[in-house]
Amino acid sequence: MLERKSLKWPISLAIVMIVLIVGLTVGWILVNVFGAITNQSGSTLYWTSLTVGSIMFALVLTGVILYLVWSIQQVDLNRRQSNFLDAVTHELKSPIASLKLFLQTLHRHEVDPDQRREFYRSMMDDVERLDRLITQLLDVAKLEQDSNEPQQPSWVSLSEIVQTTAEKLLQQYRLSKDVLTIQVDPCEVWGKQVDVEILVRNLLDNAIKYSGTPPAVLLQATVSNDESELRMVFQDNGIGIPRHLRRAIFRRFYRVGNELERTKPGTGLGLFIVRAIIKRLGGTIRVEEPAKSKGARFVVLLPQVRRLSTTNPPLSPSVTPPTYEHPHDHA
Ligand code: ADP
Repeated sequence: MLERKSLKWPISLAIVMIVLIVGLTVGWILVNVFGAITNQSGSTLYWTSLTVGSIMFALVLTGVILYLVWSIQQVDLNRRQSNFLDAVTHELKSPIASLKLFLQTLHRHEVDPDQRREFYRSMMDDVERLDRLITQLLDVAKLEQDSNEPQQPSWVSLSEIVQTTAEKLLQQYRLSKDVLTIQVDPCEVWGKQVDVEILVRNLLDNAIKYSGTPPAVLLQATVSNDESELRMVFQDNGIGIPRHLRRAIFRRFYRVGNELERTKPGTGLGLFIVRAIIKRLGGTIRVEEPAKSKGARFVVLLPQVRRLSTTNPPLSPSVTPPTYEHPHDHA
């Protein structure tokens, strides 16, 4: 409510000003045209004042419109920043509160071994959650001080990064291997190892986090025949992303829905980081809906890639050659 109110004022003020300026411009034009027609001797003066006046009005109108756009952007940024603060506070406070409770219980009461094991498991989840949040905040910091970073770009193995990231995430979300279908051409991309890792981690993490029940996620990476492009697809079977929000989700702190209704933890930074990295790698990212099923589908195109010979050592069983069609494409 508060945010709506704060947007209402600049918009109303700008609309009133735009209407006034347009009214004045029309009046100005009519007076001058009428003057030029009825007063033949001084018509040059009227035409000059008409031209100069119209240019002035056009400049004022442009200024007001720019002011309106700028105000809306500022209010929107404030809203996202306060959402971000809410999300970070929540993401910090709830695992800490839960850890505290488990530790107090373990400290004060006798707990049987089964229950103790369950407690440790939940505590581990809380620690993971804190770790994810801190990692993401550090990723943003890294992006911002990129020029000081020692790591240089090089050829990095996409297949290895996908494999380690997938294993970590499956473990973290306690999901079985068959949730993920991975079809990756053995290849290397040109970039910083850390960038490619963050890119894969954030998109795969989202695909798992926002997927449906039961979750099904597809990660495909295909190298074009002439090795001029790598096409990566991250697809899930979740609720998907409404068409009109497909650009907004890449903005800093942006999260779909409102803080009270959200069930998934997050900060709205993941895709912002992904977009910045993809720009640095010279690539593009777009969001689509899967052709034959519900869910979200992120398509990343990267320009600098080279295929690895297939005689390389085989990857883990979770990474299969790209011959499989995603089951949900037929749903
Ligand atoms: P978050 O930390 O909230 O996940 P992101 O920047 O990664 O932040 O994503 C921004 C928003 O985009 C998310 O809050 C979510 O609403 C939406 N989103 C991202 N990925 C998906 C997806 N695979 N399916 C549905 N919604 C998604």
